[in-house]
Amino acid sequence: MQTKLVRIASIKQLLKRVHIAFAVSIALSASALFAHAEVPEWCRALPRVEYKTLHRVAVRDPWFEVYAVAPAVFAIYEPHQSEETISYLIAGDRQAMLFDTGMGIGDIRKVTAELTRLPIVVLNSHTHNDHVGDNWRFEMIYGMDTDFTRENARGSHEDAQAEITPRQICGKLPKGFDRKAYATRPWKIKTYKHDGDRVDLGGRSLEVIATPGHTPDAICLLDRANGLLFTGDTYYPAPIWLFRPETNLKAYDASIRRLAALAPQIKMVLGAHNIPVAPPSVLLDLVSAFELVQRGKIPATPASHGRVIYKVNNISFLMNASKSGR
Ligand SMILES: [Zn+2]
Repeated sequence: MQTKLVRIASIKQLLKRVHIAFAVSIALSASALFAHAEVPEWCRALPRVEYKTLHRVAVRDPWFEVYAVAPAVFAIYEPHQSEETISYLIAGDRQAMLFDTGMGIGDIRKVTAELTRLPIVVLNSHTHNDHVGDNWRFEMIYGMDTDFTRENARGSHEDAQAEITPRQICGKLPKGFDRKAYATRPWKIKTYKHDGDRVDLGGRSLEVIATPGHTPDAICLLDRANGLLFTGDTYYPAPIWLFRPETNLKAYDASIRRLAALAPQIKMVLGAHNIPVAPPSVLLDLVSAFELVQRGKIPATPASHGRVIYKVNNISFLMNASKSGR
């Protein structure tokens, strides 16, 4: 008995020593890491203060942070990559909708399995790579009936690779992540959706609002009964990308006006990047800001790759220098 106790004590001591050695080695490797790699500027702004007041839900995979932002609505945030993409899991009584599947760097399907046992249907706010990365892991995928959607469903390599340069990563990529193989994998569209379609989740109905502009297949989701509007990349609280060839500024203008008309019915706006909750007043701010930009009233601030940023109070747009302002 005594020897057993002694043995236990010595094992404990040994474990303690191992722990200390482990902690020291981690501290050393972390300081070595920071000495060599420069921390990107966007990363220094994290964690964003707005998250302090949100209710965080614990999940196993450290690549993701999950927040319960409304009843049975989870924001699934990816803070370690510069897009700071946010996907949403919206649950009804019979099924749940996953509005976007994120970067495809961590496994979002595993995260959703920790949050709900309901069958999941995927619908994308649009099909840019940072919103469809894990589509391939799901069986039931709704897609908008556009050529842009069909083209992107074939997958791609280049956009995905540009997302994982050292400047795009804050902290660590997941264990076992294969940099070279990283791509947007192809997925299969099961059913096409159109403007005005409703998806019944059981006790919760979501309406598809086509809001082309950022892309031809951009949509918003309206949970009318709960006053929730999921805006994808049509609105989020960071420079809104309006410079890619698939962007149509005229269509964008019409789409945001349509959203602003809904503002009186909305309690919360949930965008797809940076911070998950905004008041409905941002929809009106968005329209007036874009109007000022289009009328040439806002000075352009140069950004990289010949682009410019137009900032109007809390709203900003990242646009092509040549096409914007008129
Ligand atoms: Zn996008």
